Amino acid sequence: MARPILLAVDDDVSVLEAVVQDLRRHYGETYRVMRAASGQAALDTLAQLRKRDEPVALILSDQRMPGITGVEFLERARPFYPEARRVLLTAYADTEAAIRAINTARIHYYLNKPWDPPEEKLYPVLTDLLDDWKAGYQPPFEGLRVIGHRWSLKDHRVRSFLSRNQVPYRWLDIAGNEDALKLLTDRQLNPDQVPVVLFADGTWLVDPDVEALAGRVGLSIQAAQEFYDIVVVGAGPAGLAAAVYGASEGLRTLVIEPVAPGGQAGSTSRIENYLGFPSGITGADLGRRAHAQACRFGAEFVTQRVTSLRVDGQYRFVQLADGREVSSHVVLLSTGVHYRMLDIPGADQLAGRGIYYGAALVEALACKGEDVFVVGGANSAGQAALHFANYARTVTMLIRGNGLSATMSKYLIDEIGRTSNIVLEAQTQVMEAIGEERLEGLRLLGPQGESVVPASSLFVFIGAAPGTAWLPSCILRDDKGFVLAGPDLRADGKLPEGWREQREPFLLESSVPGVFVAGDVRHGSIKRVASAVGEGSIAVQFAHQYLAGF
Ligand SMILES: Cc1cc2nc3c(=O)[nH]c(=O)nc-3n(C[C@H](O)[C@H](O)[C@H](O)COP(=O)(O)OP(=O)(O)OC[C@H]3O[C@@H](n4cnc5c(N)ncnc54)[C@H](O)[C@@H]3O)c2cc1C
Repeated sequence: MARPILLAVDDDVSVLEAVVQDLRRHYGETYRVMRAASGQAALDTLAQLRKRDEPVALILSDQRMPGITGVEFLERARPFYPEARRVLLTAYADTEAAIRAINTARIHYYLNKPWDPPEEKLYPVLTDLLDDWKAGYQPPFEGLRVIGHRWSLKDHRVRSFLSRNQVPYRWLDIAGNEDALKLLTDRQLNPDQVPVVLFADGTWLVDPDVEALAGRVGLSIQAAQEFYDIVVVGAGPAGLAAAVYGASEGLRTLVIEPVAPGGQAGSTSRIENYLGFPSGITGADLGRRAHAQACRFGAEFVTQRVTSLRVDGQYRFVQLADGREVSSHVVLLSTGVHYRMLDIPGADQLAGRGIYYGAALVEALACKGEDVFVVGGANSAGQAALHFANYARTVTMLIRGNGLSATMSKYLIDEIGRTSNIVLEAQTQVMEAIGEERLEGLRLLGPQGESVVPASSLFVFIGAAPGTAWLPSCILRDDKGFVLAGPDLRADGKLPEGWREQREPFLLESSVPGVFVAGDVRHGSIKRVASAVGEGSIAVQFAHQYLAGF
């Protein structure tokens, strides 16, 4: 396999040489270091590399160059390799321009010159960026292959599960693909049985469920022990924060998550407002980093769904989808929310066949050159629109209100305004999804009346609901299903009848002592990554106080 490329760009020959030497010294074994002496030469190089389908991992450009400046170059380089990490090399005096470029040119980082010693100022930053790039990169290898149908919910679930867990795979769409058909017939399988997952060792799974797939790709589906100090249900930002703090403070910590670490944030294209990441971070990267951090401290993860919870004295038992139980003293509910479904004719039938809930980032590539629709006017819809705009020909945002200002953050509105292939249709509702096997059109009601438009992909962001129906009735919830905790448990000044403790519930404690709740699933929570992280960490402090009582 060709080594991925690091491209250094500078018109100053001595600086360029120094950059190239430093890159070669540290990354030469894994990456191929290339150079260009101007922005235009670098663009020509990228065009050639793209034609040959060679991978480019990082582009490092000086800002001050005659002709095309570094910011302009990096902006123009983006369409060639949208996933490559883009770094601007600036003189101290250009820092302001570099910060602005984070927004305009979507650069990932800026480095001040000089970068000596590189061990301190260059390599840590670049290694971090390259790790991010590697996590999303699918090398052209003959490993795991998924044969499926683009317009199938089952296929979408398999691909989305693999992508979210960063398992590299090649997807072969069965439609009109002779190779895919041959791979099936060689194994005496037929097209009705897709999705089929082919493994490198020659074995395969037909229409696998998540547990079977998780087991085969090396994810753990069974807890190593029967008892833990704390069981965390859900590995979104709240659960991951609890796992990091719990495990680092010596608690035996088990995290149970059916999809992949990262939660809703994992399906988010880019979180721009999380502290400490000035150029934003994708939800998948955040999830991957937090997962690695929690594992490093000894937290254990299993890929399963929790289906019930029961209480027996000081023990709490959670049951997993495969029927096994795990016990603990403390349970943290951090199951977040899931997207509301569209309640219009055709929506149920076409879910996963052109209608997707949440960001469905895995579909972005499949939408290349197409006209995509996004429903919703909140931040999540805005982020998705910007992400799909990198791939689709046009992205039409359908919003019920007059505009975005009441529902979306200003930085996103500004960026949408700057993105020429995003179209805003205000005061517009989707009335019907049209199509038999897959989405073919939408009936819309807008200011000019009804119209039918052709459509193949509709991404829906119309609010979210907690999936807490599986919890026992002793865990009190509000009328929407969000879990009540701490002071919110008092109704008319009184604690719930079942509360037997001689103390007040802790701040994030539910109506069952020792069962805590953090993040979006909690009644009254702020639906943000930072607050979920904050609550997950605070919950661990209360868990310590609770455990101290034994
Ligand atoms: C598209 C999008 C964009 C967003 N952008 C931003 C942003 O830019 N900035 C920001 O601050 N916030 C953003 N948010 C909001 C942010 O992602 C959420 O507030 C945050 O993820 C909440 O974290 P959480 O841990 O409470 O729940 P979640 O992230 O929802 O995670 C819950 C986890 O629990 C798991 N789970 C559910 N049920 C079970 C069960 N029965 N058993 C086991 N596990 C279960 C789920 O699979 C999931 O992984 C965005 C959200 C979306 C959807």
